[in-house]
Order: sequence, then structure tokens, then C-alpha cells
Amino acid sequence: MHSKINESFTPLKPEEIPTEWYNIQADLPEPLPPPLDPTTLKPISPQLLERIFAKELIKQEVSTERYIKIPEEVLDAYLRLPRPTPLYRAKRLENYLKTPAEIYFKCENFSPTGSHKTNTALAQAYYNKEQGIKRLVTETGAGQWGTALAFSCTLFRLNCRIYMVKASYYQKPGRRIIAQIYGAEMFPSPSEQTNFGRKLLKENPENPGTLGIAITEAIEDTLTNEDTRYSLGSVLNHVLMHQTIVGLEAKKEFELIDVYPDVVCGCIGGGSNYAGFAFPFMMDKLRGKTNTEFVACESKAVPHTTRGVYAYDYGDTGKMTPLLKMLTIGHGYACPPIHAGGLRYHGMAPLISYLIYKGYMRSVAYTQNEVFEAAKILAQTEGLIIAPETAHSLKFVIDEALKCKKTGEKKVIAMNYSGHGLLDLTAYEQFLSGKLVDYEPEKIEVPSFNY
Ligand SMILES: *Cc1c(COP(=O)(O)O)cnc(C)c1O
Repeated sequence: MHSKINESFTPLKPEEIPTEWYNIQADLPEPLPPPLDPTTLKPISPQLLERIFAKELIKQEVSTERYIKIPEEVLDAYLRLPRPTPLYRAKRLENYLKTPAEIYFKCENFSPTGSHKTNTALAQAYYNKEQGIKRLVTETGAGQWGTALAFSCTLFRLNCRIYMVKASYYQKPGRRIIAQIYGAEMFPSPSEQTNFGRKLLKENPENPGTLGIAITEAIEDTLTNEDTRYSLGSVLNHVLMHQTIVGLEAKKEFELIDVYPDVVCGCIGGGSNYAGFAFPFMMDKLRGKTNTEFVACESKAVPHTTRGVYAYDYGDTGKMTPLLKMLTIGHGYACPPIHAGGLRYHGMAPLISYLIYKGYMRSVAYTQNEVFEAAKILAQTEGLIIAPETAHSLKFVIDEALKCKKTGEKKVIAMNYSGHGLLDLTAYEQFLSGKLVDYEPEKIEVPSFNY
């Protein structure tokens, strides 16, 4: 233990940063079902995948090695984000709630673009650059992923093109401008740049776009440009693995203060920030060493794990991506316009889906107003303005801490603080003026996938 530990902010020294990512596939009781080719519906060939992703990333996607070394260049970029990020004890929130529980946040809000997404963006840009790729293409919804990839592409000298959901492109220009400052080419999706975009615009010039549409455009762009690869900010195994730097650091930080969490929670859009935080702890549970509770928090408007089915589904609207076995509410699901843009995706990462389906984790869902109510409590006790996505897990933390108050349990609750909310002030304004709408679909109709 450090001699003078500051229990409100537990920092690892730069030289204590983990130098390998953790690959949970090494510890699963069985292999994950393979991705399927969208045309043949048979397990996909590596050649097709190599046209979409950098080779090293495909290797990582299917690897069952427990630890994978972080390249020097990526480690150096991590240290400059900066990493390690601190573990924060929210003592003033505990006092306000009068709870015997201890509340800890792992702070991923300090990166230059304000969220955890740079942890994988840097790794993906690096491996593509190493392979001699000139240009990365991706999609973005509210813009968190777009800004993280644009940031990483400028550091590794890659061209970057981003298809941004049209509604966000015009209504939430902040992150679009940040990506443009980094030099990325931004197009509102559906766009005139792809066949799929042109087709949709012909049918309806006012089409506001969705993440699923933007993914189709990004993949089409990739497949029609030889020097280009595609980059995804969540969902895939290798993306979740890059995020484990978060949980590996947190584990060391908890060791420094001689604490092990009883509850590990986080919000889930595609599953990457929560997986990155939770998997190094899940490793202990999978080996029968601990009985930690794992809770994934989502939006009631996009209830992919609480009301979805575990089935093979496409990742995009145009059915161009491989099919993944996951918890899904269907690739045609029209995600309501909630402010937590990062949670608006129909599917869930296969790894998280598997762990929920098998009962290793559970999930909960909330509506916008209760989530912003929790965010307001945090701002007025700790002074922190949290991302609307992250606020979904904060709502769970507060409920759990209040439960402990009733039972007298001194649970240690750990949450991944995936990002700050300083670019989401319009959402806060709508909440404060009582104009925020709660969406909750009556029926979720997932077409039956019998592949
Ligand atoms: C993108 C994002 C999320 C959701 O994505 P995951 O892949 O589930 O992590 C959550 N929080 C913030 C701040 C984000 O930017």
C-alpha cells in the first residue's frame, strides 16, 4: 500500500500502467458463436473481414490468448491522454444519500474528447497505420466516437471520413466541429456519397438518418476504396478488449486501498465501456474466486438487453455487416430520439450479450427524466456534470446506495464514469425546463431470425 493514500482520488503512477489488455475469451466456458457472412449466412471468411478491418484487429477479434501486449506507440499515446485515470470516491454523494455504501467512479471523462472511446480509437488507428492503410471510415451518432477516431487519426497521420447521423449533424454541431478541427471529413448521413445514401435520399430527402444507416454507408465506402478500412467504436470483441485498460487500472487502484467492489456497474450502448471496466473483475468471477454482482444499465427507449432476444442479427440497416449472435431488438428498430445518443443502438456486444444471457450479469433500464434527476443530484453534491449515457448507471448507483441505507449493508459500488456531459447542455436545459420526453415502446417486435 502507498504510505499516504488519498482515499478520494487514488492515482496509479504512470509507470504502473498495465502493459497488456485482458481478453475475456480466454476464460469463457465455451467459444462465442461465430459471425456470419451477410450473403451466405455461413460463418464468415477471413478474406471478407480483411477487406473491412485491419488484419491485426481480426486476429484479436478471434484470439483466445488471455493477455495481449499493448504496442509501445499505443501505450505512449495512452500516457498522454492522460492515463492511468484516477479512481474517485464520491464521498459527498454518499453523505447526501446518508448511505453506508461506498461509491467509486473510474474517471474516463478526462480524455481530450471527454469519454473512454479514445482507448480503442488510438489502438485501431495504430494497427491500420502499421498495415499501410491510408484512410479510416466510420459512422457516428451524437459524435463521441467520431471525435475520438478523428483525434486518433490526426495523431497517427491517417485520413478520416465520418458519416454522422443527419439529425445530430445539424442539431448537435459541437462534436461535429471538434472532429472537423482534427481534420476529419464529415458528411450528414444519409449522404450523396454512397449508393445506399442516394437511394434513401431519393425516397425521402428529409430522412433524419440512424446509426444503422450510417454504418451501411461507411461499409459501402470502405468496400469501394482499396486504401480504406472501416473502424467501429463498440460492440466487437477487439474493441471491448482495448477498453480493458480501464478495468485493469481500476483493479490495481482498488488493491492500493485494499478494497474489492461488491457491485460493478456501467451504462451500455454497444457495451464497450462497461465491458472494459467489468471484464477484469469478471475474470475472478468466471474462475469461481468472487461473487461480485455485475449490473449493466440501459435506456428504456432502447431496451436491447432487458427486452431483446438472443439471436443472430445484422449490425446495420442495409444488412451489409456480418451477423452477430447478440441480444437485439432488431436491426430495423427505430430508436427514439433520446439525448443519450451513445445508447441508441439496436444490438449489444456479443460478449456482454452472452454473459447476460448466461446469468453472469444482469441489466436494468431507465427513462430519461429519472436519469437526469440522478445527474442533477451528482452535480449538486460533487459538482460533476455527467454524460447522459453515464447517468443511466448513476441512477442505478443511487438506487443501490439507498437500498443499502435501508438494509444497513456497506456495499462497495463501483461505476465506470464513461464521459462528461459538457457537450450535452441542451439536454440538461430541456430537463431543467421540464420538456424532456420519456419514451418507452409498448411492444418490441423482433423479427424471428432463423439462420
Ligand atoms: C459512446 C458512449 C457510451 C456508450 O457506448 P459503449 O460502447 O456502450 O461504451 C457510453 N458513455 C459515453 C460517455 C459514450 O461516449
